[in-house]
Amino acid sequence: MQSATRTFLSTPIEYLKGVGPERADVLKKEAQVFTFGDLLKLYPYRYIDRTKFYSIKDIDNTQIFIQLKGKIKNIREIGAGRGKRLTAMFYDDDGQIELVWFQGIRWLLKSLNTKDTYILYGKPSVFNNKLNITHPDLEVFREDSITREGGFRALYNTSEKMKTKSLDSKGISKLMQTLIAQLKPEHILENLPQDILSKYKLSDRYNAIKNIHLPANLQLQERAVKRLKFEELFLIQLNLLQLKIIRKREPGILFEKVDDKFHRFYHEALPFELTNAQKKVLKEIRRDTLSGTQMNRLLQGDVGSGKTIVALLTMLMGIDNGYQAALMAPTEILAQQHYAGLKELSDKTGVKMAILTGSSKTKERRQILSAVINGEIDILIGTHALLEDEVQFKNLGIVVIDEQHRFGVAQRAKLRTKSVMLPHVLVMTATPIPRTLAMTLYGDLDVSVLDELPPGRKPIKTVHRYESQRIGVFEFLKSEIALGRQVYIVYPLIEESEKLDLIDLQNGFESISRSFPLPDYNVSILHGRMKSENKDYEMARFVKGETQIMVATTVIEVGVNVPNASVMIIENAERFGLSQLHQLRGRVGRGAEQSYCILMSNHKLTNEAKTRIKTMCETNDGFKIAEVDLQLRGPGDMEGTQQSGNIGLKIANLATDGPIIEEARKAAIALLEEDPNLESPENSGLRYYLQHHKQGANVWRQIS
Ligand code: ADP
Ligand code: MG
Repeated sequence: MQSATRTFLSTPIEYLKGVGPERADVLKKEAQVFTFGDLLKLYPYRYIDRTKFYSIKDIDNTQIFIQLKGKIKNIREIGAGRGKRLTAMFYDDDGQIELVWFQGIRWLLKSLNTKDTYILYGKPSVFNNKLNITHPDLEVFREDSITREGGFRALYNTSEKMKTKSLDSKGISKLMQTLIAQLKPEHILENLPQDILSKYKLSDRYNAIKNIHLPANLQLQERAVKRLKFEELFLIQLNLLQLKIIRKREPGILFEKVDDKFHRFYHEALPFELTNAQKKVLKEIRRDTLSGTQMNRLLQGDVGSGKTIVALLTMLMGIDNGYQAALMAPTEILAQQHYAGLKELSDKTGVKMAILTGSSKTKERRQILSAVINGEIDILIGTHALLEDEVQFKNLGIVVIDEQHRFGVAQRAKLRTKSVMLPHVLVMTATPIPRTLAMTLYGDLDVSVLDELPPGRKPIKTVHRYESQRIGVFEFLKSEIALGRQVYIVYPLIEESEKLDLIDLQNGFESISRSFPLPDYNVSILHGRMKSENKDYEMARFVKGETQIMVATTVIEVGVNVPNASVMIIENAERFGLSQLHQLRGRVGRGAEQSYCILMSNHKLTNEAKTRIKTMCETNDGFKIAEVDLQLRGPGDMEGTQQSGNIGLKIANLATDGPIIEEARKAAIALLEEDPNLESPENSGLRYYLQHHKQGANVWRQIS
């Protein structure tokens, strides 16, 4: 039976009736369809439902094409020249919606009338907070016209080249019909165990594949989609969880005792009480480092949630047990800040620290390297340059990676060469991501969340101001500076328009220097194109309070900590993504004073930019912001989740399929608990499938 499957599905596509050599050629080149099986995996991107009419008042979705029945009124020509358009109102018994045309106006004016009843077919969209339909299909209603193109149909994306061979959506549909007419249940092997199908009420695989292409109605289509999404997400979860199981077999260094250094710091040097969230996470880390297996933990915590202290205490646990620690930051500025911040604390505990960066002098560098390999340094701080071969430890026990989301396979492999045993790894990120997304992107890691800010923080006040209000904004800055506070002014810098952006930044700097003149005011400037020593110099001046204003690009985004800075101005705020805005805002609000974030923009804003700015003004909660970001942009574009674009989802959507992700993970956990090696007969279909679909299943190996 299994070989029958293989032969039918692996039949070359030219053997399908209606394909032939030329079409086969474009199918292969344009759609990677080589076999019958490949064609079945060409899923529709949308369905049209011409089986029913919507009521205008029920329109709540702008994703699908719908069919309406009603009349037209208020036909009007608006504007002139290129902005010319035709509008009309379409109404049924209990609602109305605007129609808009930009082309064919003259003909439409002649042919549309306000007497006939029309059948309208089109896709609603939102414009200026109102629903409308642009360029709808209209036909005068006659009893027999309802079913003319009727039914429930799948639509396929195809390319220009495919279209020249009549392989447009309709053409693909025809091929699908031919193929599915020959498709038998034994051609499609079930890959999910029966009890999962019944527990989650999933359609079997054969029917799912049939109905994703040729559903008779909405219910069957929905069932097919649900089943295939579940399957896709389940296989990912299985892969991630297996990876996690393999990792857990990696012997881990034991941090058996909590001793002198930890206690001295905790009881004598720690200037505040830990938050409950910090305590909870430390317990989780303690459990990991006592488990005998290697820790791979991701710590998510909003900006200012106090990740550094957690990192330090973790490193002290290692040091108390005779191990060394490494702390890696993404930039040199941040590494310096960590060094400066931890130095004072470590002095009180007698921990020996060193920092190694690109600008360390050769001699000093050599000294540090030899002290590290001789075990004279307890904590080595630096950038990712710490992974270079020349850096060798005597006995590295814990690596903390700050402001990163993932630690790549290549980097992980490097860690093996650093010391005798594989050290524990704690990765920290200030980019919170929604839980279900984390399950997919970091499903192989243990995840901790710092979901509480230290007490006494005043929430940052965020406002939106237009260019026309700049004078008022500058007055406000002057009053804050008079109170002794400092200010960041951030400009966007996008690689594609880097030159223009740098000019903007320079102009901004000059205009600010004019509005805030010497000797009363000192202004710093910082951007990625500056020499490293100049950057350090400017940053140091700002940290020391010698300058009151820091004009910068997003280089100040991650981790920088200047508690006295209380105002963050973001220029052209509409050009930043939500998570980046949130990160930038996190640079203020670190001291006891009330802090402010001012989002500057001009009046022209897209709807999406408006939503972003509004969200920022409404909440300081990084997880809420991440949720909106996910809905706005889809997971592929979210900051820190660029990898998700590579995981090759064909049908599931990480932004909207949260509930299915949860189910799939639950099912995968339960299955692996019972049958970790997939040996039982119930799981034979799954095992067979995994053996024959190795490619693609392992994308995770590259990024985890
Ligand atoms: P982030 O999570 O963004 O890296 P930091 O570790 O830099 O945050 O902490 C932000 C600030 O909060 C620091 O000044 C730190 O000393 C302070 N902090 C951390 N934990 C606490 C706490 N439990 N109580 C009071 N202040 C704290
Ligand atoms: Mg930090």
